[in-house]
Amino acid sequence: MQPVTPVPECLGDGFAALVDAAPMLVAAADRYGRIVLFNAACEALTGLQRNDVVGESFVETLVPEDWHEVVRERFAGDSPAALSKAHVNPWRSADGEARSIEWHCFLFESPDLPNCPWIVGIGHDITTLEQTRAQVAAHEQLIDALFEHIPEGITIADAPDVSIRRVSRFGETIAGRTRQTLEGIPADKHPDTWALFHTDGVTPATPEELPLTRATQEGEVVTDEEWIIRRPDGSDVTILCNAGPLRDDAGKITGGLIAWRDITRRKHLEDELRAANLEKDQFLAAVAHELRQPVAASIAALAMLRLRDSTAADQTERAVGVLERQLRQMTRLVEDLLDTSHVARDAVPLSKERLNLCDLARESMEGFREAMDAHGHQCSLSVPPEPVFVHADRMRLQQVFNNLLGNAAKYTPDGGTIQLLVFADTGGVRISVRDNGLGIPEHAQQRIFDLFGRADTSVQGFGIGLAVVRRLVEAHGGSVSVRSDGPGQGSEFLVTLPAASV
Ligand code: ADP
Repeated sequence: MQPVTPVPECLGDGFAALVDAAPMLVAAADRYGRIVLFNAACEALTGLQRNDVVGESFVETLVPEDWHEVVRERFAGDSPAALSKAHVNPWRSADGEARSIEWHCFLFESPDLPNCPWIVGIGHDITTLEQTRAQVAAHEQLIDALFEHIPEGITIADAPDVSIRRVSRFGETIAGRTRQTLEGIPADKHPDTWALFHTDGVTPATPEELPLTRATQEGEVVTDEEWIIRRPDGSDVTILCNAGPLRDDAGKITGGLIAWRDITRRKHLEDELRAANLEKDQFLAAVAHELRQPVAASIAALAMLRLRDSTAADQTERAVGVLERQLRQMTRLVEDLLDTSHVARDAVPLSKERLNLCDLARESMEGFREAMDAHGHQCSLSVPPEPVFVHADRMRLQQVFNNLLGNAAKYTPDGGTIQLLVFADTGGVRISVRDNGLGIPEHAQQRIFDLFGRADTSVQGFGIGLAVVRRLVEAHGGSVSVRSDGPGQGSEFLVTLPAASV
């Protein structure tokens, strides 16, 4: 083994100056793996002096320990062609941190140099570049995650033709279309590809008026605009859009971004709220109208009472009759009003006791006997011979019977048949009220249990009774349902209550 000549002295002054002036790292190891070339850039990076390292082991002096094996193997095994390919391995730097160096190496041989061949490496520090690359990759991963998990539609387009670069996963779901269909299309194809309409659901959108086009081409910031997407299955989705331009460092528009969310359900709820509010207004107007007549009649009756002539007794009799009827009518209206507040309230106070439902059914039927007879209805009551016990509030259950029997009488033309049945089975205790009256169309069978929900507005009523029934039955842990084969086919209301424990 020849001794190591101080390098780059052995290469001559001119070459040494050239190597030292190079901004990149230039280093070499001889065939025994000893440092033979170490330029000024290497000194600056490592903080080591050339004279101290020349002749020392290249790997042990310069490479962090966990990389020793890799670098040794590369030096020992790689062919000249493989060596010359760029590879990265770290070096210990002056501050103790490992720096990533990208190396290009070659084998060098000369009769003037000792211990050839040398492996000469030219490297540059890519630590900052790698950090930047890692940051970019992390940003890309973040954007991927946002496009995958944010429960909104997000679309990015490129300027100037607004061609769609990317659509979020929820965007696909809301639009009912795949990214493959949507990505890459330019502005003039957006209205058709997405099937975009104005909020009337009829007027098709034009490319220029769409928020993403305006953001990308005009730099406009669009806030809370509503549009409709017609999905391939024909259903309409109302979307709320916010869009804005994307710009480079110089402020030039490079693209646009739109975020959009499905507000179809919110729109339906708003419509329902509006309708409910309207119904409430109509209800109040109807109550006012209905109250006017009994009040006027009562005032007239009082006027009659004031007249004191020979027929006073007769007139008093008539006036008291009028007052009684009209006051009864007013009482009913006031009770309806009170019932609405019951339905709206969260908790219904119950005063429960052990009750025989058969007795309650008998009493209720008896209470309706006169009214049923007046309309020529055939009424029947069917209860089992043994008592059927429930744990319930007597007054509230009475109200349930009254509302159901009252409806049966009201919605059955004179001379109808009305049956009240009480029975118990494995599902609980049942009350069935059947009539052969007007019946209820299928589409209204759910709605009639809502406050102010009515199937037939031609018959006088406010749509309160069944909402009260449902509220009270549910407060007792039960349920109520209706069965009707449609208009003219009669109805059956079935109440189920939990049986009282023995
Ligand atoms: P109201 O009778 O005052 O309108 P309800 O809440 O008791 O209020 O009933 C709601 C609606 O259900 C009624 O308007 C009517 O259209 C329908 N309905 C209730 N009971 C019957 C029945 N036995 N037969 C036919 N329709 C009924």
